[in-house]
This record gives sequence, C-alpha cells and structure tokens, in this order.
Amino acid sequence: MERRGGSLGRDKPCPDRGSSSGSLSAKLSTVGRDDHGFSPLHWACREGRSSVVDMLIMRGARINVMNRGDDTPLHLASSHGHREIVGKLIQCKADTNSANEHGNTPLHYACFWGQDQVAEDLVTNGAQVSICNKYGETPLDKAKPHLCELLREKAEKMGQNLAKIPFKDTFWKGTTRTRPRNGTLNKQAGIDYKQLSLLAKVNENQSGELWQGRWQGNEIVVKVLKVRDWTTRKSRDFNEEYPKLRIFSHPNVLPMLGACQSPPAPHPIIITHWMPYGSLYNVLHEGTNFVVDQTQAVKFGLDIACGMAFLHTLEPMIPRHYLNSKSVMIDEDMTARISMADVKFSFQCPGRMYLPAWVAPEALQKKPEEINRRSSDMWSFAILLWELVTREVPYADLSNMEIGMKVALEGLRPTIPPGISPHICKLMKICMNEDPAKRPKFDMIVPILEKMQDK
Ligand code: ATP
Ligand code: MN
Repeated sequence: MERRGGSLGRDKPCPDRGSSSGSLSAKLSTVGRDDHGFSPLHWACREGRSSVVDMLIMRGARINVMNRGDDTPLHLASSHGHREIVGKLIQCKADTNSANEHGNTPLHYACFWGQDQVAEDLVTNGAQVSICNKYGETPLDKAKPHLCELLREKAEKMGQNLAKIPFKDTFWKGTTRTRPRNGTLNKQAGIDYKQLSLLAKVNENQSGELWQGRWQGNEIVVKVLKVRDWTTRKSRDFNEEYPKLRIFSHPNVLPMLGACQSPPAPHPIIITHWMPYGSLYNVLHEGTNFVVDQTQAVKFGLDIACGMAFLHTLEPMIPRHYLNSKSVMIDEDMTARISMADVKFSFQCPGRMYLPAWVAPEALQKKPEEINRRSSDMWSFAILLWELVTREVPYADLSNMEIGMKVALEGLRPTIPPGISPHICKLMKICMNEDPAKRPKFDMIVPILEKMQDK
C-alpha cells in the first residue's frame, strides 16, 4: 500500500484522481483521443458524468476501449467510486477482469481506494478476487480487512477458486487484450473468399443459403444470397449497402462482419457471428432446452428495446430492417441481439413485405416512403412482446398472405390471453396503439422494462 502511485499505476497516465482535468466539454469536443489516449468515455467515467456516459454509449462508444496505460472506462469509474456508471458499463458487457499495463483490474482499484460497494458489484459480476497484478498482488491484498473479508465470502459463494491466479499465465491475456470480436474484425469489411471455410449447410430458402463456418478463428455463419441477374449495378449497390451493417458499437446489435462476392458466377456473400441458440424464434417456438419464463422474457424485451433505441438514433436509419423474432439472435450469454445480417438489400425482392405478422397495419398498406419507420418498428416490438409472454407464434393458423390481408383490412389483432402480467399487458397495448403517432419511442420504454426487471 505504500507504493500508492507506483504499483497501482496511479501516477502514470491514468487513474489520476488528484490533478484537475479541465473542462469535460473541452475534453469531449476533441474528436477521438487526447494525449493520454483517453476516449470521451474514459473522461465521462472518471468524472462521474452519468448522462454523458449514457449519451456516449447510445452513440456507439466502445465499452472496453483502452487508453495508453491499458485502462478501460471501467477502471476509471471503479477507481473513482462511480457506482451507477460501473453498473451501466457492466450491463453493456464491460470486461470486469480487464488488466491494465500494471496487471491491475478494476477490482484492484476499487479495493485500493476503498470503494466498497463498487468492489462488491464487480465481484457479483464476475471480477476475480485472486487475480495477480505484475507485482503479485491480488485485489484482496489491496483491500482493508473488513472489505477483504466481505469480498472473500462473496467470491466463495459465487464459486470462485481463491487460489492466486498468477500474472503471466492469466486466462484473460490471450482473449480480452487482443479484443478479438471487435477490434480486429472491425478493420476488414471486404473479406477474402478463400479464407472462409464452410462446414455445414444449415438452411436454404428463397433468399439464399446459410452455412455454418469458420473465418480467422471465429465461428461464423455465411449467407450466400440468391439474386437473379447479378448485374454490375447490383454489385455496386451491394458494396455500398453492406458496410452500413457493420455496427460494432452496441451490445444488442449483432453486426454483419464482412462481405464478398464469390467467384466464379458471383454471389453476394455476407458473414456474421454464429449464435449457438439461433434466433429468438428458434428459442421460443422450436423447443431448445430452456424455457423462456417471465423474467427471461422481460430481459429479452429490454435487450431488444435497447438495441432498437440505438438503431433509431442513426440518421438516416438503416433501410429495409424488419424487426421480428427471426431477425433477433440469442448469443451464448443469453443476450438478445438485433441481426444486421437479416437486413435486406435493395436488390432482394424489392417491395415484398417480409413476415407480415410483425408488420404494423399502416405499414402493410402504405408505400415505404410514407411510413414512419420508428412508429411501425414499435408495433413490431409489441408483437414481439406478445410472442415473448405467450410463447406462441402470432397468427399461427394463418398463411402470410392471409395475415397481411386480415391485419391490413379486417382489423385482425393478436388477442391477449388471461394470466399475463398487467404491467406487460399495459406496455403491449401502449406500443400497439392504432395511431402510429401515439406509440412511444424506444428510449421511453427502456426504463419501463428496466423497472419490470427489478420486480
Ligand atoms: P430470411 O432469409 O428472410 O432471413 P430465415 O431467417 O428463415 O429467412 P436465414 O436467415 O437464412 O433464413 O436463417 C435460417 C436459420 O439459420 C434460422 O432459423 C436460424 O436458426 C439460423 N441462423 C440464422 N442466423 C444465424 C446465426 N447468426 N447464428 C446461428 N444460427 C443462425
Ligand atoms: Mn433470417
């Protein structure tokens, strides 16, 4: 503890609590990084500016970004005891065991600075209490006796092995630090077809084939799109449209990783991460090995609403994105993610309405340019909520053609069976307002779903 600065790296670029930081807005106005490699998110987390953190996350700030000293925003928020921000970062999948240049994790700092509640929250969310820094010190070594005792108990309850995890061969070195999912994949939009290995065909339909495969050590799916008459015009449109789907900045959006056109007779090909549970539709209706109870239903609803709130901040919005349970994927940690690989391209059956059961009545009748997409997406979300709580396929006994006709022209609507929580019923009804202008915005319903989650 004597080496307050040294061993914890506090006199180095970052977590520098003592010195004045200048105005936050000045920091934020600099595009990108300052000379310590702090991102705006680093600053907002250090200064405890919760609403700025929200804004930055909404705008797509990367959660696990590192400064020159390899501190993540979570290191700063933890060190300065900003508990609410720590919670937000964790919710957005911040890595609780990320080590900086000294091998210190956010928990090392929370312990050292006596941020007891933050330390507890970190441990609850998977932070290891026995991980060694470069100097062989664990977070517990840094904590005062009472906190040390409390964390040790908590860690034991959570099933942590309390044997010291040595600095050199720590498990996180190879994975987190190289940031495989985002950092490296981010750079390459155009992929080399020869580097794709296709393992098994999963599905084939009118829009194309879907294969499971590997690419650069990642488990992926490869979508080979079926397009009649692949003209240079279409090829050019493809190259313009797919980069917009490479959205890596929100935990509830599943990016399209890259694309290419396969020889010899070119087919457009897109790739995305392989999701072990498949789509929400698969999970809800095609009997995998877990049941979506009400808690999980609300969690999925919240994930989807967060993802949609983010997509609705984009200007212009992504065209031809249809929200339904087949275009929401479930990740290995049970996070719902909106699939960018399911966004349609301009050359895919223009004008055809996909999966009418989730489409708002006004959207079934009007031309795309006359529809308020943000309002009609909210209707689709209401259908998803209905699907989540009933675990049934909407209008299951009708064909797509019949659904389209009856919803648009005959006032067909999903019926809400008894036994559904009144809170969810109410939310569903608000989101399914017949008047598109009266439906709420996604950022308005996120807090409602968050509250339901606490119940
Ligand atoms: P559309 O062509 O209109 O999107 P679809 O969703 O039925 O129709 P695909 O998108 O090809 O067709 O998906 C087929 C199946 O492949 C889905 O049922 C889903 O289970 C699975 N699938 C799709 N994307 C992924 C993914 N990223 N990871 C794992 N499985 C996936
Ligand atoms: Mn699909």
